[in-house]
Amino acid sequence: MTKRVGIIGGGAAGLFTACQFKRLGAGSDVEVTVLERKNIPGIKLTLTGHGRCNITNRKDPSELKKGYHEAGNFIYPALKGFSPEDTIRFAETGLGLKLKEEDNNRMFPVCDSATKVRDTILSYIEDSAGIITGTKVTEVSRTDCFEVATESGTYHFDYCVLSCGGSSFAKTGSTGDSYRLAESLGHTVNPVKGALAPVNADNGSAALCKSLSGVSVRAGVSVSVNGKKISSLEGDLLFAEHGLTGPAVMEISRDIPLEIKGNEYIELDLVPSMSDEEFDRELQQLINDHPDTKITTLLARYVPASVAGVIAAKEGCADMYAQGFTKENRRKVCRGMKHLAIGIGQAPEIDKAYVTRGGVSLREVDRKSMESKIVPGLYIIGEALDIDGISGGYNLQACMSEAYMAAGSILER
Ligand SMILES: Cc1cc2nc3c(=O)[nH]c(=O)nc-3n(C[C@H](O)[C@H](O)[C@H](O)COP(=O)(O)OP(=O)(O)OC[C@H]3O[C@@H](n4cnc5c(N)ncnc54)[C@H](O)[C@@H]3O)c2cc1C
Repeated sequence: MTKRVGIIGGGAAGLFTACQFKRLGAGSDVEVTVLERKNIPGIKLTLTGHGRCNITNRKDPSELKKGYHEAGNFIYPALKGFSPEDTIRFAETGLGLKLKEEDNNRMFPVCDSATKVRDTILSYIEDSAGIITGTKVTEVSRTDCFEVATESGTYHFDYCVLSCGGSSFAKTGSTGDSYRLAESLGHTVNPVKGALAPVNADNGSAALCKSLSGVSVRAGVSVSVNGKKISSLEGDLLFAEHGLTGPAVMEISRDIPLEIKGNEYIELDLVPSMSDEEFDRELQQLINDHPDTKITTLLARYVPASVAGVIAAKEGCADMYAQGFTKENRRKVCRGMKHLAIGIGQAPEIDKAYVTRGGVSLREVDRKSMESKIVPGLYIIGEALDIDGISGGYNLQACMSEAYMAAGSILER
């Protein structure tokens, strides 16, 4: 009996699944068909890693899982099943793509081309999977088999892999259809919002960010709502024309509420290596030791000179020298350096977000196979699921590991 497998969505997760079928030795009794709405598959894949494709992150699964937030435990068996080392081996020996390691264990192809990665994958699966492009799936129903309706006809499959992606970067084809299709099949979809996105400042903070546009700092970054910190981390960020961006801000953007009421802000600690008291003490010592030095020059020991200038000006101390500095002046400057509040103008824009937070509830999916617990024979992978990883190759590795679990499970049946 031939097993007919329909992969809905030919993005990273869908194409990786087709790769896994071939890699796992699926024979002629397994008929794999990818249905892709765009005329070319894998468009988002070609944008990854700024066009260079950060394909995975060379960490041990037990360490890697921490980069998937609340979904770490769910995805752990998949990461162990097909680990970053397996991805590297497959890329190099299966696909013939030599990889190189960059900072923070990030792995890229030596050719530095995400388009080459996509094209190499397409060549690899050319003889093992049918790829039908320009075909948008509009409905999926399950009777004795899956009936998959598209704008150009209906297909029948014994197994379906739902891999239509999330809602971010809609121009690449991922417009949230995964969620609509999953819901129509009885799944719960957790609220969807942008993650790994830049943050727009509100009117009160926009000028400050703009004046420092292009300046990067290392800082403690936290999201506060109604004066209460809801999350914090430390890392590099970049002031930008409309607000803040850079790795730390992108990473924390997932915690910004969907509805902005005007009392949400990002707080920057520009001297994260010291407590408030330590910094205050050290600044006082510097002031005592250097009475003829401008306060901005002293602050520039901790942050770029442009940032020091903006903080001092914000607190009304721009032209002051250490000798005239009062306790109150010091208190204000310390607050500016340790608790710089940038008002949030709006929730992260989904179209500028690298990934989607939210999606199909993980409670309804078996983490050992990626099979739906609601619809037997339906597998849900990639950004369709309520999983978002930090940046650094985590999201593509998730797609690869989940693809392995799904393909393996279908082949075993
Ligand atoms: C700019 C950018 C850079 C990124 N860089 C990296 C990186 O370097 N490393 C990393 O790990 N992650 C990166 N990511 C995240 C990563 O690209 C995604 O997590 C990953 O592509 C998700 O794969 P997916 O298959 O679930 O969704 P997608 O890749 O979005 O694929 C979904 C596919 O389904 C198709 N589709 C949608 N609806 C239908 C329908 N109704 N019928 C048929 N087909 C449909 C779409 O056209 C699309 O081709 C980046 C994301 C962006 C936006």
